[in-house]
Amino acid sequence: MNHKKTLSSGVSPHGLSLAFAVLCLAFVCGCATAPVMEGIPSYSIRGVHYIPLVSLCDLKNISLTYDTFTRTAELKKNSTVVNVHAGDAVILVNGKAQNHDNPVCLYRDVLVVPYSFRDSVVEPLFKSGVLQEKKAFPASRVKKVIIDPGHGGKDPGAIGRTGLREKDVVLDIAKRLAVLFRNEGIEVVLTRSTDTFIPLARRVDKTNASHADLFLSIHANANRNRNVRGFEVYYVSSSVNDFDRAVSAARDDAPHLGVLSVSGASLNLKATLWDMIYGYSRAESMELGRSICKSVQCEVNNKISGIKSARYYVLKGARMPAVLIEVGYLSNMDEERCLKNGFYRQQIAEGIKAGLFDYSQQICWQYK
Ligand SMILES: [Zn+2]
Repeated sequence: MNHKKTLSSGVSPHGLSLAFAVLCLAFVCGCATAPVMEGIPSYSIRGVHYIPLVSLCDLKNISLTYDTFTRTAELKKNSTVVNVHAGDAVILVNGKAQNHDNPVCLYRDVLVVPYSFRDSVVEPLFKSGVLQEKKAFPASRVKKVIIDPGHGGKDPGAIGRTGLREKDVVLDIAKRLAVLFRNEGIEVVLTRSTDTFIPLARRVDKTNASHADLFLSIHANANRNRNVRGFEVYYVSSSVNDFDRAVSAARDDAPHLGVLSVSGASLNLKATLWDMIYGYSRAESMELGRSICKSVQCEVNNKISGIKSARYYVLKGARMPAVLIEVGYLSNMDEERCLKNGFYRQQIAEGIKAGLFDYSQQICWQYK
């Protein structure tokens, strides 16, 4: 069921639950209409000036989508996306949380934002001049990557006919990739850098504690049918319920949102934030996966099966854009022979690196 609707100027969101309206009205004690600001009517709520978000977006030519079910709104212009949630002082800017002094609110069924939202969010983010500055730093979006070589120690993973073990292949590719990224000034964390067994839960914990921008898990595949072959990239399946993940993430602790402090926030607020982060991460992961497949195809003369969704544990757990890369099938004799070769493994690493860079630059090209 699709609850989303695009708003145009002057149209209020409908279908809000009575309970929520009551909640918001409780917050809005002593409201009074304040002076018109930049042609937009404003309201004084607890001494803070608020303006309707729809009017502000209309004035600044920003596209606005409001979801009456989740009470979240998405502001979009060029490639900048801002997500807000009624009742929260925390907003997401391109998936990263920002804490503000006053919450976004519902007032008489209209989503309103503090007047300061115009100067602190809309002006700096949606102004073309500021966006153009970012063009000079094409890779700046990705500063830190966590690489997770699958298996290790007592767990060899898939084993090829000639005895080539997945745990050795993926560790080698991960290390080559780490060198390539570090040469480009990107910080790298590895979930393992030796032949050791690390349980999945520990990999996920390490991933989330790393505060990296992206998570890359490296594996090699196997199939009973030895003809099956190809390079594949997986992102988390949309059949994984984001709200369940969000609630469990929120129960763990406050979101790992960098400088943001939401330790006093309710479970519901934290879950909503996580839900927004996961939704954003899935789209980003698909984009990253697509980009990696494309550039690996340029590097190696092999079948690229493309991107697929799956319910892998590490992907479900990662609280950032995350992909799991299957570099090839060890059960296929051709691919096992290729993966034995250091030059081929280097090409795979070069392809993944190039894919990540293209992904990082795609966003910047859109600022043009
Ligand atoms: Zn594996």
